[in-house]
Amino acid sequence: MKHPSTTLIHHPYEPPQGFASPVAGVFKASTVFFPSVAAMRSRQWKDKTAYTYGLHGTPTTYMLEERLCTLEGGLQCVLTPSGLSAIALVALALLQSGDEVLLPDNCYEPNKTLMEGELLGWGVRHRFYNPMDPRDLQSKLSSATRLVWLEAPGSVTLEFPDLAQLTRLCQQHGALVALDNTWGAGVAFTPFDLTPGQPCAVDISIQALTKYPSGGGDVLMGSVITRDADLHMRIKLCHMRLGLNVGANDAEMVLRSLPSIALRYRAQDQSTRALAVWCQTQAAFVQVLHPALTGSPGHAHWQRLCAPQGQGAAACLFSVVIDPRFTQPQVDAFCDRLQLFRLGYSWAGPVSLVVPYNLDRMRGAWPAAIARGTLVRFAVGLEATEDLQADIAQALAVLA
Ligand SMILES: *Cc1c(COP(=O)(O)O)cnc(C)c1O
Repeated sequence: MKHPSTTLIHHPYEPPQGFASPVAGVFKASTVFFPSVAAMRSRQWKDKTAYTYGLHGTPTTYMLEERLCTLEGGLQCVLTPSGLSAIALVALALLQSGDEVLLPDNCYEPNKTLMEGELLGWGVRHRFYNPMDPRDLQSKLSSATRLVWLEAPGSVTLEFPDLAQLTRLCQQHGALVALDNTWGAGVAFTPFDLTPGQPCAVDISIQALTKYPSGGGDVLMGSVITRDADLHMRIKLCHMRLGLNVGANDAEMVLRSLPSIALRYRAQDQSTRALAVWCQTQAAFVQVLHPALTGSPGHAHWQRLCAPQGQGAAACLFSVVIDPRFTQPQVDAFCDRLQLFRLGYSWAGPVSLVVPYNLDRMRGAWPAAIARGTLVRFAVGLEATEDLQADIAQALAVLA
């Protein structure tokens, strides 16, 4: 008769097979058991036919990876602890000393900081290109260019580039193309099919799952999706060597949110466009930036890719440029005065957000298509549109 502690730890009961329900199981493990030494020696995790260690995948993470591949039209997926770590993983997996990376000049700021603060010290250089001018990109592609980042639209200024043209230029030059697809989220367009009928695909699509796939404002996670098995394996091996992991509960939260991603995307899209159009009628705003608005930089590119017919799709972000006669303290007071729009960065959750930006500090030169003034970015949540409009209206009193 064994001690009860031992029996509790090595309990013989096995639940019956075949349990089925709407939600994915949460499988947690650091260690994974093997039935024999032979199995331990021969088991493979790289092709997802088995399990070897918590870091190398569980039924929960495999399931999430497969569903994200379906969402984005990819074939392989690696999960990372945040969207930023997905960006960093791509850099670490693919770049070596002497290589050069090209970043759009309106890119997600932390990608810039990663290049400046870490990669530069390892001999990886970076340059910025104007994503709205393909000739500028072409002139900067060199024999050292290994990787080019694309973003559609730019994180804060929301210019929408011609993704297909930029992708072709890079690939003709032999450079890998990585797209930060957090805005499109696999809903607005398909990164591996940029020109239906003709092959044109990015090599890598990363996403901050933190945003739409989670949708709750409570999970940090990222994904790196590919369609090329060798490219995937380079990324996967680097991921393994770095020991990157995501928690099972977090993976399950994203699995739980994925079925509603298209509905949430559409609801926030409609609300965002209504607010953006209303903001165009407000005298304090000299420009409203949203790719679905005629006149917003890159609108035609957005229309071709995301709205070939009908309304199309766009995410929950828009920015306004506030008349330069208002000082930064006045603009800050406007943001402080908002009540439903909370001050915060990570969008696509239920709560609407606002952030004032200082474009002068972010960009080498003031972008030609953007009016002078102070830029404020709104991220629209799931509150009723009329309440959000009333909130902006009451805060505008400080700019009267
Ligand atoms: C939020 C965001 C990221 C990073 O996501 P985290 O999970 O917060 O690290 C990357 N790219 C874009 C465009 C984002 O908006």
